[in-house]
Amino acid sequence: MNQVMVVTGGSRGIGAATSLLASRRGYAVCINYRSDADAAERLRARIVAEGGAAIAVQADVGVEADVLRLFATVDAELGPVTALVNNVGILETQGKLVDMSAERFQRVFTTNVVSCLLCSREAVKRMSTLSGGRGGGIVNVGSGASRHGAGGVYVDYAASKGAIDVLTLGLSKEVGAEGIRVNCVRPGIIYTDIHASGGDPDRVDKLAATVPMQRGGQPEEIAETILWLLGPQSSYVSGALVDAGGAR
Ligand code: NAP
Repeated sequence: MNQVMVVTGGSRGIGAATSLLASRRGYAVCINYRSDADAAERLRARIVAEGGAAIAVQADVGVEADVLRLFATVDAELGPVTALVNNVGILETQGKLVDMSAERFQRVFTTNVVSCLLCSREAVKRMSTLSGGRGGGIVNVGSGASRHGAGGVYVDYAASKGAIDVLTLGLSKEVGAEGIRVNCVRPGIIYTDIHASGGDPDRVDKLAATVPMQRGGQPEEIAETILWLLGPQSSYVSGALVDAGGAR
């Protein structure tokens, strides 16, 4: 049976490392992206050149119509999804809560939380053994920020990641008898472009000394954790919040 994975925000950073590793482990992969079509196409071409199967689909996963189109495209081109990685997440310029706008709160929560709800809903519809599906796995990409709160930097982002933790716990219970496992990986500080969005491109190197393991993480290390959570090796793990932050 085909294993089909959807990786939201699968074109860059942690999502790109996950898409590539998933292909190497035998999944047909849908690389979702929002605006950087070149990055998505480069990754798709690389996977196909390695002998894998991949499609790149533009969709803003905070928008319901886009999510419906994304999953319909996957149905038609790869078959029903068996693994979903809710990887999309944004943060905005570092600052204090008193200086943040309502529009920013909406953007962060829509992109980080509503996207996860919408994509999980579409995946559960297709995976659930109650509706004739063959089960599957969902991994949400949370953040260590839900433990430390990111005060003075981006509490809105940290709060959105707290919602991801709770969604993981609740949904894992809701679909536990439907052949679906739901888990969350909470990365620490990882070398990706996301830190530039917060106005701090060198953040990983600046904070490396605060990590007990004395270094930032690589996207590939998070991808390995995600693939483990989706694979048979973790068959009795569901509702877990797995910290991958070098003990930070
Ligand atoms: P990144 O390098 O900034 O990549 C973001 C990806 O998400 C890109 O593929 C981007 O597509 C896509 N994207 C953004 N908004 C989207 C939307 N509305 N719809 C569809 N795609 C969208 O991010 P990252 O650092 O790899 O982060 C991935 C996840 O890990 C996030 O949930 C983040 O919160 C979490 N995380 C990261 C770190 C870290 O240190 N990097 C730490 C803890 C948690 P385009 O290029 O087309 O815009």
